[in-house]
Formats: sequence, structure tokens, C-alpha cells
Amino acid sequence: MKKIKTIIPAPPKGHWVGDGFPVQPVFSGMAFTREISPFLMLDYVQPAVFTPTLRQRGVGPHPHRGFETVTISYRGEIEHADSVGNVGIVGPGDVQWMTAGSGIVHKEMHSSTFSRNGGTMEMVQLWVNLPAKYKMIAPRYQPILSRDIPIIKLTNDCATVRVIAGKFKEVVGPASTFSPIDLWDIDLKSGGSMEFSVRNSDTTMLFVRKGRLVVGDVVVNAQEVALFAHEESIVRLDAQEDVSALFMSGEPIHESIVARGPFVMNFEEEIRQAMIDYQNGEMGQMAD
Ligand code: MN
Repeated sequence: MKKIKTIIPAPPKGHWVGDGFPVQPVFSGMAFTREISPFLMLDYVQPAVFTPTLRQRGVGPHPHRGFETVTISYRGEIEHADSVGNVGIVGPGDVQWMTAGSGIVHKEMHSSTFSRNGGTMEMVQLWVNLPAKYKMIAPRYQPILSRDIPIIKLTNDCATVRVIAGKFKEVVGPASTFSPIDLWDIDLKSGGSMEFSVRNSDTTMLFVRKGRLVVGDVVVNAQEVALFAHEESIVRLDAQEDVSALFMSGEPIHESIVARGPFVMNFEEEIRQAMIDYQNGEMGQMAD
């Protein structure tokens, strides 16, 4: 059985992204390190109640280059618009997989309907690195609707797995990725257990949104992230409470990482170039 190498504790405090997203940076000090490659960062908006308003909360136009943002809504609606001309709503269960590549400017707002009605928002945004050879490709946008994401019920009926990317027991998820990545939502009932195998060269992580589970004799609580050891390939999870968790496993990218704000490249010089290119409007532009 695969063991846990490190538990990343729940972050002591969060911060706001714009005025729409009170996030917990759940990878804490491990964010942007080689140790968790190809994953870079995971922001979690734990269930947050917003009052009705006539203006839209969120984060206005800003650029990205060199990686991908994966936004999953669990509750509430996010409205996306970008400099390439894509617009869309990410509603409950939907996933937006955006490849910033050479550069994109986008805004991420509460949808107008959600803003007007108010309600509860719960979502995650995972940043996935791109191998150097893909960092400067044209931006790409994959709007993945909940109904297009396969859900597997395990035979003992205590667990469901929603396959966003990669595959779970031969069921393939809809997201297209630039390096091998498994990304699944796991729900496991209290007292239930499940086993599955992963490539043991992968970086394998589990973020517990709700509930509590154990791996061997190690307890993983809500808001904690388990980083698994590379040895062994069978993962076994035993739920002590009803659990909802995000499972991530990906082939490490063995390249240097330089992350500055919205840009993630391999070298400082490339960050300076990204700032110049953004200021020159080469990542596109959009109105507030
Ligand atoms: Mn963004």
C-alpha cells in the first residue's frame, strides 16, 4: 500500500482574490516547488455566503502565461471572459480547464444570476504547470460541463469517482492535458473504503474538502492535503466520516520553476519578458 509522505496542514489563514473569492492556499509552503510538480498551487473557496448585489464581485482583467488554471465549481456560478473571446459560466459540477500558454488576459467574476440572487460559493482553482516546450503555445480553453464528466459508482456503493482528467478503472475523463494527469472528485461514505492504483512515478496528492479519512494509520482531516510517497502503487482510503476529496496525480515535470504572480516560467529572464509582453498588449486586452 502507498504511504503518505507528508501532510500539508490546513493553512492558518486565507486571502481574498479580488472581492469575489476568499481562498485558502491549501498547498501552503509547498506551492510552486519541484516536489509537487506538475501541480503548482491549489486555492480553495470553502463554502462562503454572498448577499445579493447589483454589481458583480470577482477579479477583473489580469494575465497568465506558462501554465494552466483548472477551475471546478461545487456551488455557485463563476463567469469567465478572456482576451481570446471565450465567455462562459462555470456552474456547479462544471470544470473550466484553461491553458494560458503564451498569454491570455481574463476575468473571473460571480455570474450575474448568482450576484443578483446571492448564495453559497464553493470552488477550487488548481494551477497545473506546462512542460517548457508547451509554455508558449496558443491559449486554449476547455469548458467541461458536469453532464460530460463520467461518474463511476463503486460496486460496494460507498464511493463515487468523477473522472475529470485521466482515467479511473478504464473510464476516461474529458479533459485533454499536456502531460499525464489524473484529476478526480472522490466521494466516500463514512465507514467505506476504496482502493485503486496509480503510476508510482507520479506526484500523487489528495485534498480533503470535507470529512476525515485514514491512509494506513495516518489521519487526513478536512482542509488537509496528503502527499503520497512514490513507493508502491495501490492507494487505499478508509473514510471515518463522509468524505469529499480532490485526487490529483501527475507525471512530474523535471524542469526549473520560476513563479511570479500570474506567470510561471523556467527562468527569471522569461518572467521579465512576460511582463514586457503583457504591458505591450501581446497577451491581448479586455475592458473592465
Ligand atoms: Mn486568473
